[in-house]
Amino acid sequence: MSFPAAKARIESLSLATSFGATVDVLRLDLLHPVVSGNKWFKLKEYINAAKTASKTTLLTFGGAYSNHIVATAAAAKMNGLKSIGIIRGEKPEVLSPTLLAAMSYEMHLHFLSRTAYREKSLPTDIYINHNPEDISVVPEGGYGSLGAKGAEDILRENETTSYTHIVSAVGTGTTLAGLINAGTAEQKIIGIPVLKNAFSLRQEIQNLLPVEKHNAFELLTDYHFGGYAKHNAALLNFMNEFYRQTAVPTDFVYTGKTFFAAVDLLKKGYFPAGSKILLIHTGGLQGNASLKKEALIFG
Ligand SMILES: *Cc1c(COP(=O)(O)O)cnc(C)c1O
Repeated sequence: MSFPAAKARIESLSLATSFGATVDVLRLDLLHPVVSGNKWFKLKEYINAAKTASKTTLLTFGGAYSNHIVATAAAAKMNGLKSIGIIRGEKPEVLSPTLLAAMSYEMHLHFLSRTAYREKSLPTDIYINHNPEDISVVPEGGYGSLGAKGAEDILRENETTSYTHIVSAVGTGTTLAGLINAGTAEQKIIGIPVLKNAFSLRQEIQNLLPVEKHNAFELLTDYHFGGYAKHNAALLNFMNEFYRQTAVPTDFVYTGKTFFAAVDLLKKGYFPAGSKILLIHTGGLQGNASLKKEALIFG
């Protein structure tokens, strides 16, 4: 598939306190102003598969603030495919910035009640405008082995084998599965789930791994700040302070929580002295558009 021009770069962070470790960040957020980050990597194998099967249209699922929805819309358009977004919940009077962005990439939006959405029962009116045989379905959040396969390239585009620890946000865990599969046997791959009570997450990630990698990762589950897209003053203060120190912007749903976790773990002595830590900036900055303007010092 056609992909953003440049590869993502690695920057070293000068944190006020790094407690004897080196901390670098892989800036996937710089790949594209709106459709940044891990979503490109997760989508590319789905797009290749759709094209190989001569499909013309990608269909996927998500909420009104889903980075995956807008990324699918843009990636489809850039690859000459149509896109359909099945959106959870009734159509609101005012569309979210995410949905407006998806529409600007000509995604057709269909709103489903939460019940119908849970059952993933597709509204039949989709087929007034689209032939079912032309449609390739991308699972919600890009979860699946094609998504994980694409995410392997996150580590492979740059030389990353010298890092001792790799830290990334976890939603569905597809990205983390890619990192685990691409990582070396010596590397510790650490995932920070942004959802509360993600009891089945470990299993869902393992489903995307070969057996010998089933325990090659760790999930640290205390950094969700109350659950998906929940936030508080401590998180927003951290994001502002992190930006002051490093000039790296973060989002409050994924990377803010993840980098908060990394700094907290540094303070608590989790990483042995001399550790070389790579933080994955998975993007998602468009999500900050739903915060109050004055909440963040970067915009
Ligand atoms: C979607 C997303 C994630 C989560 O990726 P998964 O592969 O679903 O775990 C992490 N960070 C950002 C910025 C995202 O948009």
